[in-house]
Amino acid sequence: MKKILFLFFAILILAGCANKQCDKDVCNKSSKVKNVIFMIGDGMGLNQVYAGMTANGGHLNIERCTHTGLAKTYSANSYITDSAAGGTALASGNKTNNGMIGMNADSVAVKSILEMAEEAGMATGLVATVRITHATPAAFYAHQINRGMYEEIAAEMLTSGVDFFVGGGRNNFEVRKDSLNYSDSLRNANYDIVYSIDLIEAPVLLPFGALCADGDMPKASERGDFLPKAVDLAIKSLDARGEGFFLMVEGSQIDYQGHGNSTEGVIDEVLDFDRAIKVALDFAERNGNTLVVITADHETGGMTIMNGSYVDSTVVVQFNTGGHTGTMVPIYSYGPQCAKFTGIMENTEIPFRIKSFLGF
Ligand code: MG
Ligand code: ZN
Repeated sequence: MKKILFLFFAILILAGCANKQCDKDVCNKSSKVKNVIFMIGDGMGLNQVYAGMTANGGHLNIERCTHTGLAKTYSANSYITDSAAGGTALASGNKTNNGMIGMNADSVAVKSILEMAEEAGMATGLVATVRITHATPAAFYAHQINRGMYEEIAAEMLTSGVDFFVGGGRNNFEVRKDSLNYSDSLRNANYDIVYSIDLIEAPVLLPFGALCADGDMPKASERGDFLPKAVDLAIKSLDARGEGFFLMVEGSQIDYQGHGNSTEGVIDEVLDFDRAIKVALDFAERNGNTLVVITADHETGGMTIMNGSYVDSTVVVQFNTGGHTGTMVPIYSYGPQCAKFTGIMENTEIPFRIKSFLGF
C-alpha cells in the first residue's frame, strides 16, 4: 500500500512539473537570483486582478506566474494601511505608521532593499506612473516623517544612488520653495535627465532619470504604452551593466481609480500594469536568473465582483468605500526561489526573503 501511495505521489509530482515553465524555473530551486523585478500594484486586490482578467476575456499575463501567496497589509498604527506604511513595509521589511516613508514607527530611518542592492554594487531602478516622489517609490529611496514632503523626498534622489528612474514629478525637482533645481544637481552628478521616453532607445547609459509629467502621469487610457515601455527601457539599461539589478515597478494608479470607484478606470490600470508584467516575465523567462515578485500595498475601494461574463468580457462591480480596505493582497511570483512566496505572510516578510536570496 505504501509503495502504491509513493508511486501515486511521484506521478503527481512529475505531472505537476511536466510543463516547460516548471522545468525551467520552479523545479530548478538551486538557480541563483541575479536580478529582482519587484512589481507593486497600488490598491490591487484580488478582485481588481479578476475584474481585469474578466474584461480581458478570461486571461492575464500575471497568470504566467507559477506561484501565489497572500500578504497581510496592516501597518504599525492602523488595521488599514496607507501607501506610505505599505511601501515602507515592502521596501524595508518594517511595519511603520501610516504616512511615514522609509522610517520605522520610532521615526528611525530604515534601509530599503534597493539601498542594500545599491551598496552591493547592483544596478537599481524605479518606475512609476505617479510622481517618482510619491509614497510607494519614495519608500525605496527616501526617509521622511511625512509622505507629503515631496520636495524633501526629491532632494533625497540625489544622494540615493538610484541608477535609473522614470515617472512624473518634475515640479518637485524644479519648481520648489527653496528655488533649487534638483534636475540640474542630478545632471551635475552625471545623470542624463529627460522629460519624455518616447524617443529614447534602450539601453540608456546610467545614471538616467525621466521626469515625464509635472505631477502624476495621465491615467492609463491617456498614457499610451508609457509603463510597458518604461519597464523595457529599465530592464535593458540595468541589465546592460552586467552586475545584477533590482528594479521596482509600480502600477500606481489602480489605487486612484479605486478611490474614484471607477470600474472602467480600475480595469484600464490593471490591464496596463499587466502589459508591464508581460515585459518583466518575458525577460525573466529568457534570462533564467531573474526573480519576479508582484504584489500590492493594499486594496482600494472594497471592490466586489457581483456578476460578469467571459464571453462578453464584462464585469459588474460594487464598491464599498472610497478608501482602502484591510483585506489580504495576493502575491504572484516567477523565477528562481519563487516557491518561497507561497502561503500567508506579513507584507514585511517579502523584502526579507528577497534580501536572503541576494545574500544581504
Ligand atoms: Mg503608490
Ligand atoms: Zn490610496
